[in-house]
Amino acid sequence: MSLSKETEVIFDAHRGIDYDSANPPLYDSSTFHQQILGGDVQYDYARSGNPNRALLEEKLAKLEGGSHAFAYASGIAAISSVLLTLNAGDHVILPDDVYGGTFRLTEQILTRFNIEFSTVDTTHLKEIENAIQDNTQLIYVETPSNPLFKITDIRGAADIARDNNLLLAVDNTFMTPLGQSPLALGADVVVHSATKFLGGHSDIIAGVAITNNQTVADALYLLQNGTGNALSAQDSWTLAKHLKTLPVRFQQSVENAKQIYDFLAQCDEISEVYYPGNNELHLSQSHHGGAVLGFRLKDETKAQAFVGALSLPLVSVSLGGVETILSHPATMSHAAVPKAVREERNITFGLFRLSVGLESADELISDLNYAFKEAFNESTTRQTKIQHISR
Ligand SMILES: *Cc1c(COP(=O)(O)O)cnc(C)c1O
Repeated sequence: MSLSKETEVIFDAHRGIDYDSANPPLYDSSTFHQQILGGDVQYDYARSGNPNRALLEEKLAKLEGGSHAFAYASGIAAISSVLLTLNAGDHVILPDDVYGGTFRLTEQILTRFNIEFSTVDTTHLKEIENAIQDNTQLIYVETPSNPLFKITDIRGAADIARDNNLLLAVDNTFMTPLGQSPLALGADVVVHSATKFLGGHSDIIAGVAITNNQTVADALYLLQNGTGNALSAQDSWTLAKHLKTLPVRFQQSVENAKQIYDFLAQCDEISEVYYPGNNELHLSQSHHGGAVLGFRLKDETKAQAFVGALSLPLVSVSLGGVETILSHPATMSHAAVPKAVREERNITFGLFRLSVGLESADELISDLNYAFKEAFNESTTRQTKIQHISR
C-alpha cells in the first residue's frame, strides 16, 4: 500500500525495529562502532551517512515521488550540488529572475570552473529552446518565481529537455511537494530550500535535492560526502519532526493566502497583486496558489509608513514560516541589484512579498488594512489597530 503524503510524513517505518519512541532518537555521533573488521556496515562516519539524515531523506524522497533524496546544509548547498554534477565546459539555462543566491553561485563561483550559464525568460518556452547550445546539459527553472510570481510550464520545459537529451531541474521551494510535483510532470531533479515551508518554524537552514535518476543520485551522493555539505544529524532530526506538520501548516497558510488575496485585490492603496492562484498555467501544474503573494503600493513613498504601522508580520527575508513574513525585495533580496536594473525588472520600492503564516486571516487582514489606511493617511481611527499588540 502506498501511503498518502499526510500519513507518510508522520509514519515512521523504523518504529519498533530500531526504537519504539514516538520520535526517533537523535544519533548524536560522528562515528560508529565496527565489530567486524572490513565488514559491511550501514554507518561508519556521520559525514558519509547517519540514521537521522537517512530517515529524513527517505521521507523527502517519498513526498516528492523520487527514488532518492539528499539533505544538505542549506537550499543553496543542495542547488550547488545539483550544478556541480556538471563538468567544466557544460552549459546551463537559467531563469532571468532566478533566486538571488542561485545567481550569485553561478555568476561568481561556478563560472570560475568554466561552467557556462545563459539566463532567459523561462516563461517563454521558445526562449529556452533558442538558448540551447551544443554543450547544454541542464535546464533549471523556478516556478512560481520570485518576487514577481512568473510561471514556467514544467511539462513544456520537460518536453524540451527530453527532446534535446538534457536534464530538467526545478526549484520547488514555493509550492512544497504537497502543492506541486515536478518529477511527476517530467523533471529529473527537484530542489528545495527546506529552510522555508518544509522546516516551517524559521529555526533551521536546510536544503534537499530529490531525483529518480540513478546517475544523478550517485553524483549527488558523491558530492554530499565528498564536499561535506550534508545536513547535520541534529538539523535532520529537527527537520523530520517539523515535516510531520507540513500538511496542516501548508493547508492553513494556503487558505489564509486566498483570503488575503481577496482583500488585497480590492484595496485602493494597491496597484498590483501577484498571486499564482489565479494563473491558469500554474493551476494546470499545481494544486493551488500556494501561500506567498506579492503586491505593489500605488504610492511607493508610503512604503516605510506602511511597514511602521503593521503589527503582526515579521518584516524580514525568508518565507514559509508559521509566522507571516513580509519582505521588501528592493532593500532585501534584490538590494545588490543596481537601482536602474531593479526598476527595469519592475522591482520597485513599493513592491512587497507576503509569506502568509498561520495567524487568523481576519486579524492579518485587519492589520494590513490598518497599515494601508494609516500610511496613506486616510480617515481611520486607532481602534482598528489590533489592541493587544504594541510596538
Ligand atoms: C531561500 C531560497 C533558496 C536558498 O535556500 P537557503 O536555504 O537559504 O540556502 C533557494 N531557492 C528559493 C526559491 C528560496 O526561496
